Amino acid sequence: AKVVLEVKDLKTYFKTDAGIVKAVDGVSFTLHEGETLGIVGESGSGKSVTNLSIMRLIPSPPGKIVGGEALFDGVDIFKVTEKEMRGIRGKKISMIFQDPMTSLNPFLRISTQMVETIRLHEKDVSKQDALKRSIDMLKLVGIPSAEKRIQNYPHQFSGGMRQRVMIAMALSCNAQVLVADEPTTALDVTIQAQILELIDKLSTKMGTAVILITHDLGVVAGMCDHVCVMYAGKIVEKAATDDLYARPSHPYTEGLIKSVPRMDTTKKGNRLFSIEGQPPNVIDLPPCCPFHPRCHKAMEVCRHAYPPVKDLGAGHEVACWLFADEAAKAQALKEANV
Ligand code: SF4
Ligand code: MG
Repeated sequence: AKVVLEVKDLKTYFKTDAGIVKAVDGVSFTLHEGETLGIVGESGSGKSVTNLSIMRLIPSPPGKIVGGEALFDGVDIFKVTEKEMRGIRGKKISMIFQDPMTSLNPFLRISTQMVETIRLHEKDVSKQDALKRSIDMLKLVGIPSAEKRIQNYPHQFSGGMRQRVMIAMALSCNAQVLVADEPTTALDVTIQAQILELIDKLSTKMGTAVILITHDLGVVAGMCDHVCVMYAGKIVEKAATDDLYARPSHPYTEGLIKSVPRMDTTKKGNRLFSIEGQPPNVIDLPPCCPFHPRCHKAMEVCRHAYPPVKDLGAGHEVACWLFADEAAKAQALKEANV
């Protein structure tokens, strides 16, 4: 399939009083047409900053994209003007967030907001045609009595229905990429499943590539083709979803998989496995594997150098010293003067 977005060595840093926060530090991935890519990690891992960087929505200052490129249709979106970016953001690359109320205007009818969104990006579409397309989109996302409901205000919809409206809006301009940042976290479990299924169905139907950002590896299993696991601003493991579950290789990924609740084995009262310790503060991190304080397999070298990326085959990559050869470890220790 055609590559729609290629992110190479993205670095996004924030200046704080305490020092430079390397929120995203050398992230690379490729997204193909119709593919769903999961970006998984705890809060503070850099997954949302990755998303906001791609959308060029990093608040600056204090944030800044200090390195890397994001090739969309062969154009580096970090280099285009803000005016050109406005033609991409919300049209070619659309977003949906955890809380639709933050992106819907509470004082405007859904009809007005959807028609405006379409006409903002496609100036020659008449109001009537835009309204018709909006109603069709609402039907497509499963809003009953769409013709009537489109005249309602956002607060007249339930949380799940509002998220459907957001998806309809996001896809109404035929986006090539849909970025969904924790789209279902605020919803109850049944509704969550329905919304994820809807995104999945629509992306297949419309050929839209999806980046799904989540802290929940369980969400990824049902829906993503590929997964990037992020920790402390870096991708620590990357693989096809099946492959990641079949041979989770980074100790952090193993921990994440163990902490996914399972219908069959997780009974009431059984505590879920959880990864002990806190994610690191990414200010002035010394050279090391940032997971080492929480890793039960940590070795001496892990405390002194960031692990090299190892390709395990079939595009399965892992950044962990367990997979490096002895010579590389010895060299790293020597360089660290240990
Ligand atoms: Fe654990 Fe070392 Fe691998 Fe980091 S590099 S995950 S500390 S074994
Ligand atoms: Mg987030």
